[in-house]
Amino acid sequence: MRKPKALIFEISRPGRQGYSLPDCDVPEKPLDQLLPEPLRRSAAPELPELSETEVTRHFTELSTRNYGVDTGFYPLGSCTMKYNPKVNEETAALPGFACLHPCQPEETVQGALELLYNLEQGLKALTGMERFTLQPAAGAHGELTGLMIIQAYHRHRDDHKRNKVLIPLSAHGTNPATVSMAGYEVVQVPCDERGLVDLDALKTVADDTIAALMLTNPSTLGLFEEEIVEMAEAVHEAGGLLYYDGANMNAIMGYTRPGDMGFDVVHLNIHKTFSTPHGGGGPGSGPVGVTGRLVPYLPVPLVDRQGDKYYFNYDSSRSIGKVHAFYGNFGVVVKAYTYLRMLGGDGLKQASEDAVLNANYLMNRLKKTYHLPYDRTCKHEFVLSARPEKKKGAGAGDIAKALLDRGFHPPTVYFPLIIEEALMVEPTETESKETLDAFVWAMEEIARDIDEDAEKVARGPYHTVVGRLDEVRAARSPVLSWQNKPAKK
Ligand SMILES: *Cc1c(COP(=O)(O)O)cnc(C)c1O
Repeated sequence: MRKPKALIFEISRPGRQGYSLPDCDVPEKPLDQLLPEPLRRSAAPELPELSETEVTRHFTELSTRNYGVDTGFYPLGSCTMKYNPKVNEETAALPGFACLHPCQPEETVQGALELLYNLEQGLKALTGMERFTLQPAAGAHGELTGLMIIQAYHRHRDDHKRNKVLIPLSAHGTNPATVSMAGYEVVQVPCDERGLVDLDALKTVADDTIAALMLTNPSTLGLFEEEIVEMAEAVHEAGGLLYYDGANMNAIMGYTRPGDMGFDVVHLNIHKTFSTPHGGGGPGSGPVGVTGRLVPYLPVPLVDRQGDKYYFNYDSSRSIGKVHAFYGNFGVVVKAYTYLRMLGGDGLKQASEDAVLNANYLMNRLKKTYHLPYDRTCKHEFVLSARPEKKKGAGAGDIAKALLDRGFHPPTVYFPLIIEEALMVEPTETESKETLDAFVWAMEEIARDIDEDAEKVARGPYHTVVGRLDEVRAARSPVLSWQNKPAKK
């Protein structure tokens, strides 16, 4: 059903009100006693004047223009847009958690400390690490924290010539960005024809100038690095450490652990793997775990237990310091802990199984229509190439727009960089077969449309609120409120 739209854009009318307050029943102070003259407005603010009905309709209408996992399928590769169970919200909103103050004395927040402590035990069991900090607020923040720990470790050993970090060509964009930010030089390691890291190429660059190898396994191509043990040996023999970008843990929970593959440092994307909402800039959580020899470098404080008392432990002479105010994004941590406890070990394992099953089902159906450059069993995601479609006149970006017209959030496009016209699809475990089938039909229909009239597809979308945006300008010079004048160029 089409909703009737107001014929005019500006709906404010002088004198309309959305509230009514009772008359003041205490003596009013003169204004100059409340606010000094220079801080007072000289004229009343120009605010829209609207009734409560109009305000409610306006914001409800705006909220329907947002796309999220609660409104539809969201196969954004590498981002793990899985369903966020609503019970997570309930626990995080419990007054005993939500109304805490970070400066409260330890003996009054024992429950919160126990939760932090228990979540750490869970993450240790899943990854095979010795200890975790829960401070970092995102994956990229975890990466920086991890590299700072690695840097502190080498410096403490007076090993100052290590100025490089190895990264495979299939890496997520945050990896090279983090390496540069930590003051290291990026050295890219090529992939072989299987899409896996080229072990021989890795061995030739692994020398005594490398601080670390940064890797996600399975890779962003959704492929498991089968030679990870040999890779770890090569890096360790050269005196380097192994950093695990754990944003792709969704595929392997309960099956294998980065610690068992030889990794020394791990970050997890709690807002991906542990089902806390993300997008739009946060808040997220990117805990960092390390093996025994790196524990002294972790940020302070850690939560420890003495008898049945939990406490913040600041006792560390080699710590890199704090990387976040207080103890991290506590609300997000409560949600992640809820997810962990609701599923338990077997449930997490099943989540990974289903994520891999869904991805392989979708991959095998879509490869009949689209080009699949690395045709191997995938893990949680896979990458198609729209190169043939691009030649016909509509590429990955155009297919993404055509999906918007059909009510789907598109896959990640143009990434990873080693695949031309990449479409990176991650269905996650929380989607039904019916949803996956509907997505396949939409993709097949788009392929037929491109065969018939590629130019028409390339001019889409046709049914969205806005069409093709100037994405760079929208990011660089955003206009965040409506103004009754044209936006500045
Ligand atoms: C999402 C992601 C990151 C970055 O995580 P943020 O929380 O967005 O900073 C890093 N690596 C991989 C592989 C990712 O998918």
